[in-house]
Amino acid sequence: MTNPTVQIPGPIDPPARLLMGPGPISAYPSVLTAMSAALVGQYDPFMTRTMTETQELYRAVWSTRNDATMLVDGTSRAGIEAAIVSLVRPGDRVLVPIFGRFGHLLAEIAERALAEVHTIETEWGQVFTPAAIEEAVVRVKPTLLALVQGDTSTTMNQPLDEIGAICAKHGVLFYSDATASLGGNEFDADDWGLDAATAGLQKCLGGPSGSAPITLSERAVEVVRSRARIEAGIREPGDPDASDFVRSNYFDLGMILDYWGPRRLNHHTEATSMLYGARECARVLLLEGRDEVIARHRLAGAAMLAGVQALGLTVFGDIAHKMNNVVAVEIPDGVPGDEARAALLTDFGIEIGTSFGPLHGRVWRIGTMGYNARQDAVLTTLSALEAVLRRYGAAVPVAGGVEAAADVYRGH
Ligand SMILES: *Cc1c(COP(=O)(O)O)cnc(C)c1O
Repeated sequence: MTNPTVQIPGPIDPPARLLMGPGPISAYPSVLTAMSAALVGQYDPFMTRTMTETQELYRAVWSTRNDATMLVDGTSRAGIEAAIVSLVRPGDRVLVPIFGRFGHLLAEIAERALAEVHTIETEWGQVFTPAAIEEAVVRVKPTLLALVQGDTSTTMNQPLDEIGAICAKHGVLFYSDATASLGGNEFDADDWGLDAATAGLQKCLGGPSGSAPITLSERAVEVVRSRARIEAGIREPGDPDASDFVRSNYFDLGMILDYWGPRRLNHHTEATSMLYGARECARVLLLEGRDEVIARHRLAGAAMLAGVQALGLTVFGDIAHKMNNVVAVEIPDGVPGDEARAALLTDFGIEIGTSFGPLHGRVWRIGTMGYNARQDAVLTTLSALEAVLRRYGAAVPVAGGVEAAADVYRGH
């Protein structure tokens, strides 16, 4: 046998990039360092200790006392799918208020879990009032309300603080996808009455995609546990049949709970390097301070907003409900959106985001998240954006964006 002929590339050597889109973003350097630490075996005491530490750190990140706080291995939608598949049974009514692309994702996953899905929609760029959500809860009588907190597709941040009380009043489980918002915007799982919440690392938490932090209330754990009991054949009067469940193995939160719980019952092989990375994301956040990190995102977001407005760009959506960490701007008439974005990337090494659905080709999305929620990243992006806009014929004031953003930092 001869070796197969294959052109062997050099070692991985990515170009220098400043990731200022809606995610993924440039990771904190210490997160990348943590991820290159040596591996240990999955039953090594160091491994179990690291899992326990990570759980404790994420309780503080989520602002919860939930025992059931852990990681699902996979990108953010692994967390979403684990939560929904484990909390609903076929035929259960699930209510999904949709205000952007990720609401559609929650509805689709609930449909695949064979739920009876009911949606309400609001125009892109808006959020729901608690009254609109309560009206739908009363009408639909769902077992689960699935609601995105921050939807990067529209940049909106749905207020959640009054929703938990509505759900509790009507006996509804309350789940939120906080992937885009956690760490850069307020989130108080216990105070807001969340039963389940999931996230990812590649937004405000400042890591790569590939790990999904999740937290479950006791009520949610009881739902998960009752399924496990029924599946084990221990049925109580009124219990459904186990064949009424969609039974994922990988996303079985009961088994994942047993893996992260005191018994450490092996389920999968915990993704060691992702665990290290997730631990470091939470560690750097808590070292700086949860409130301080949110304030840093608020400041960077305010500076970026002032900067793009000073460049004469029109901001999309209801600014009062914008997430701290991302802004959408309308592409000026006559500027070829994709070409200008490509010029930012090739000439300046800066990535900003395009858009989906109704906003496709209409807006760019610019993020200031995690490690990149920094003054220098904001000013560098604005000066490059100004140069590119001018190159494509837009009339933009010289240094207007940079000065307006710097003023926000100076006034702080
Ligand atoms: C970015 C984002 C995701 C991403 O999911 P992945 O599986 O990590 O790609 C999920 N939900 C929301 C609300 C997001 O903004």
